[in-house]
Amino acid sequence: MIKGVTRRRTYKAIYRLLDRVSPVPFDCGTICGAACCNAAYADEDMGIMLLPGEEKIHDRHADWLTWESLSTDEYELPGSWKGKIYFVKCKTPPHCPRHMRPIQCRSFPLLPHLDEDGTLQMVFNDYDLPYACPMIEEETELDERFVRATYTAWKHLIRDPLIYDMVWGDSRARDMESDEE
Ligand code: SF4
Ligand code: SF4
Repeated sequence: MIKGVTRRRTYKAIYRLLDRVSPVPFDCGTICGAACCNAAYADEDMGIMLLPGEEKIHDRHADWLTWESLSTDEYELPGSWKGKIYFVKCKTPPHCPRHMRPIQCRSFPLLPHLDEDGTLQMVFNDYDLPYACPMIEEETELDERFVRATYTAWKHLIRDPLIYDMVWGDSRARDMESDEE
């Protein structure tokens, strides 16, 4: 399994920070049937990638997740990611123990983006998704506390060189795509 330097206690602190915020001040799942949790799971290739070391705060025997370890060679991941990563899937979406949602779920619909000069910003998720998120489509104004908390969380996370490499690589790919448009 690839080993990042982010410690268990850092992940715990980040989970606690993000437990206190939501993208909007109501349950956005009510406007789309919780598309990001449900529709994604209709496609067996979809899952949630855990960040390097994020597995440390999860119980492999918990009954709400299935686990798979996959080789980093099979995915567009930075060259520094050598080994295996964990992909998890929830068994009963959209229901899960909210305090245990992985970082990927907690950041959605935002993503971290690094400008060329290394400045971090949170941007709307622009990956091709097998469902439509109304908040992304309409670029809904998100709760400022959520934007700030996700920014703070990723500011800590990118101190881990592996996570930095991933965010940097995704950001350059995003820049290239927008230059081509
Ligand atoms: S994040 Fe988007 S897709 Fe997910 S429940 Fe909220 S509005 Fe729906
Ligand atoms: S962990 Fe929770 S929030 Fe994330 S996809 Fe599963 S049901 Fe949805």
